[in-house]
Amino acid sequence: MLRLSTLFLRTLRDDPADAEVPSHRLLVRAGYVRRVAPGIYSWLPLGLAVLNSVERVVREEMASIGSQEVHFPALIPREIFEASGRWADYGDALFRLRDRKGAEYLLGPTHEELFTLLVKGEYSSYKDYPLSLYQIQTKFRDEARPRAGILRGREFIMKDSYSFDLSDEGLAASYKAHRDAYERIFTRLGFDYRIAFAMSGAMGGSASEEFLAPTPSGEDTFVQCTNCDYAANTEAVEIAAPAPHDPTDHDAQQVLDTPDTPTIQTLVDRLNEMDLGKEFTAADTLKNVVLKTRAPGSDEWELLVVGVPGDRDVDLKRIGGQLEPTEVEQAGPEDLAQAPQLVKGYIGPQILADAKVRYLVDPLVVEGSAWVTGANQLDRHAAFVVRGRDFTPDGEIGAVEIRDGDLCSRCGSPLKISRGIELGHVFQLGRKFAEAFGLTALDQNGKPVTVTMGSYGVGITRAVAALAEQTHDEKGLCWPRIVAPADVHIVATGKDDAVFEAATSIADGLEAGGVRVLYDDRRGVSPGVKFKDAELLGVPTIVIVGKNLADGVIELRDRRTDERTDVPVADAVDAIAAAVRS
Ligand code: ATP
Ligand code: MG
Repeated sequence: MLRLSTLFLRTLRDDPADAEVPSHRLLVRAGYVRRVAPGIYSWLPLGLAVLNSVERVVREEMASIGSQEVHFPALIPREIFEASGRWADYGDALFRLRDRKGAEYLLGPTHEELFTLLVKGEYSSYKDYPLSLYQIQTKFRDEARPRAGILRGREFIMKDSYSFDLSDEGLAASYKAHRDAYERIFTRLGFDYRIAFAMSGAMGGSASEEFLAPTPSGEDTFVQCTNCDYAANTEAVEIAAPAPHDPTDHDAQQVLDTPDTPTIQTLVDRLNEMDLGKEFTAADTLKNVVLKTRAPGSDEWELLVVGVPGDRDVDLKRIGGQLEPTEVEQAGPEDLAQAPQLVKGYIGPQILADAKVRYLVDPLVVEGSAWVTGANQLDRHAAFVVRGRDFTPDGEIGAVEIRDGDLCSRCGSPLKISRGIELGHVFQLGRKFAEAFGLTALDQNGKPVTVTMGSYGVGITRAVAALAEQTHDEKGLCWPRIVAPADVHIVATGKDDAVFEAATSIADGLEAGGVRVLYDDRRGVSPGVKFKDAELLGVPTIVIVGKNLADGVIELRDRRTDERTDVPVADAVDAIAAAVRS
């Protein structure tokens, strides 16, 4: 039993000055966590109780898919991260340190390397596979903007698991088992969550999905359908494109003099003065943006032109997500010097193939669509430039910035842009780490096969804050019972010994029946303060033993609905236990 007279807890009346989001404000005020430094927190007894409950649910569901728990060090020698290339790739987010002899180490931001090496050390035959291992461990990332309290820490707890299979089908099955386990975890924890596609498959079709808790304070932007259950992050989203046309079914290409049309709107106005037999809008123009890309390991930047409808903005982050690990940036004047055929402000796709410049279009630029675009000459545009007749792009890439109302590629209904918190991530990693570390198994014929891996993470500390974010109300925290630090918060009010005796006896009776009790047995604290604390702490059932005891009743309150019921003292233990179990 937790007794408030001795519990290591101080609640605060005022919000911490640095709190940007409700979960941060409330977890600090309710005495669940305390800040040590930016992104670094201590967990006090009530916070730790919630954290432990989250871990328990995660462990149960990992066990249910046969994943076995291990534990790795957080302190990792540099060489191990050199071997995977991540000593360099991780950049400033990696905490690096030296020992007394000058040897370099890092504090693990995630543990693919160590899992791969461990399995390589122990297993060698196809008979050993498949395998799934996990750990619940403290991770370190020097996040650029640790904000929102424990939602984005620099030291935080993650459950990370890894699956090891010998075939792509095996990996798909392991991935599915994890995905199902994650659904059970987040459902049991009481989350409202979405599963969002995290990559469009440009990286060899390997699956990657994020579990997101929709909330206004979330840092992640994602897109969800207003009708079906399609959701994707903005890098991976696919939107419906218009139907393709017949490329031969258009007027002939026409080059037009268009001086002094520096913006799309001035160009559209000019076109509409020209009497071309059609009313033009910005959506009829094709905007060609010059970017540059660099493949991993290369020092050469190559030009890339991306075509989007002129009424749309280009989303460089979205393009980058699909081209990864190839880097992409806006091209500067010095890059443009590489291709003198490109006339700034008047670039059209008609000559790009001859100029040997790679050209990709957004899928909205469908086969057979006709456009007004640059004529590759100063002060000139061309109209009726048709994809499939006047130019053929090298491929398609989702490049436009997604807007509310873009259409779902699954069902055609409008999409909406939402904010959420990433709770977890399931990812078909493939053979990258197995190749880097030579993790192979001998097959039936004694031939080595490279193992294929999946990587799966749940933010444990983040889950506590995200739950607080989704479940709190204006009065305070409001936990789902499964993670609440207690089932019942008993408040004894007044000065009367009989009240405290009755409350103690109820508390003892409940505890004997396996109900978890938080008992406010403090003397000399006003009822008002006790009620406020009970609302702030967020235990789902509140029991008040006070004035009504004279009439032989106590009051039962539901923290979430505030529904109040009077119960005879004699029935109190049974009635409360029943309320807790319902
Ligand atoms: P984010 O985009 O939020 O930075 P990530 O893509 O870096 O997350 P992963 O590397 O996939 O995250 O880590 C797995 C899980 O760990 C995430 O889904 C998230 O729940 C949690 N997590 C990641 N970074 C942090 C952090 N700084 N603080 C708390 N939890 C984190
Ligand atoms: Mg991150």
